[in-house]
Amino acid sequence: MPRPIQARIDLSALEYNLQVARRATGARIMAVIKAAAYGHGLLPAAEALAAADGFALLDLRDAARLRQAGFRQTILLLEGFFTPGDLPLAIEHDLSCVIHHAQQLAMLDSCPRRSALQVWLKVNTGMNRLGFALRDVPAVMEKLKRHSAVRDITLMTHFSHADEAAGVAAQMEVFETLAAPYRVARSLANSAALLRYPQTHADWVRPGIMLYGASPFGRGGAGQPNARQLGLKPAMTLHSHIISVREIAAGECIGYAGTFCASTPMRAGVVACGYADGYPRHAPTGTPVLVEGQRSRILGRVSMDMLSVDLSALPSADVGSPVTLWGEGLPVEEVARAADTISYELLCAVSGRVPLVY
Ligand SMILES: *Cc1c(COP(=O)(O)O)cnc(C)c1O
Repeated sequence: MPRPIQARIDLSALEYNLQVARRATGARIMAVIKAAAYGHGLLPAAEALAAADGFALLDLRDAARLRQAGFRQTILLLEGFFTPGDLPLAIEHDLSCVIHHAQQLAMLDSCPRRSALQVWLKVNTGMNRLGFALRDVPAVMEKLKRHSAVRDITLMTHFSHADEAAGVAAQMEVFETLAAPYRVARSLANSAALLRYPQTHADWVRPGIMLYGASPFGRGGAGQPNARQLGLKPAMTLHSHIISVREIAAGECIGYAGTFCASTPMRAGVVACGYADGYPRHAPTGTPVLVEGQRSRILGRVSMDMLSVDLSALPSADVGSPVTLWGEGLPVEEVARAADTISYELLCAVSGRVPLVY
């Protein structure tokens, strides 16, 4: 029998969440499937999201794989091409390319004329990560419009605070001013903006996390809607088993460095799941977990292949008892909050040794 950990993926949840996005917007939907579809598996997720108008990811070879699998939608490379050598494959597979930097603009000149490349010009409106500065946009637009290798231009930007109190107003204002002179398609919204700010929807929205059934508003805590309140269905359940049970005497400590010590006699179980599976090592004692569907907590340090859980209130739990690390019955956002991270990181950190079961 293989080690009992698996990531169970409910592909119908992806389809369902795409419909939630569809109902929220009239814009075209670019399903973001970077990081192996946030850990859900690239091709199975793309198939479940086949009703999307486009897909966005990072890796040229993954994009080519989607084309070879028969997807005809727009496929956008979110960081564009990295060297001139990437361009022939991008052109062959009719991939849309983000252009965010002057060096990429220069690389375009190596394209054969009339390559008919679709370009998404990324502008920096305040995130200060990727994108051209405002003052450079007019010249870049002119160059792209006249470029013999470019067929079509979309203007895009990305929000830094769509999930936070500060919102999108400042960046929206900058974007609208710079985009006003151009009659081209526009794209701004990630999941948080799609759900919260209809004025950002424009021509293309770019939801990622919401398609996988997690809330983008994971860090706000009180007052922030969770996935269920947003009408989203979680697609991934990280599942394993108890592989050992022991009685712990008062005063005994558990795991590396003994960071948890029992104050009364208790029962602890060991779960086949550790940081090499993608479970966050920094999740502290008290991070929630489900054992036989009942809420419990992890105890002590997460180790590479195992973590310990409290079975004191679960007398029937034993070797073989099912454990849910997150997913059905335990929102990934809740585990993320306990571990001082975000659902995104947990989902895409599930490691290659964990089988994805559909
Ligand atoms: C990852 C990403 C998205 C999707 O963000 P979510 O918060 O997961 O919806 C959208 N746009 C860009 C440019 C991205 O890199």
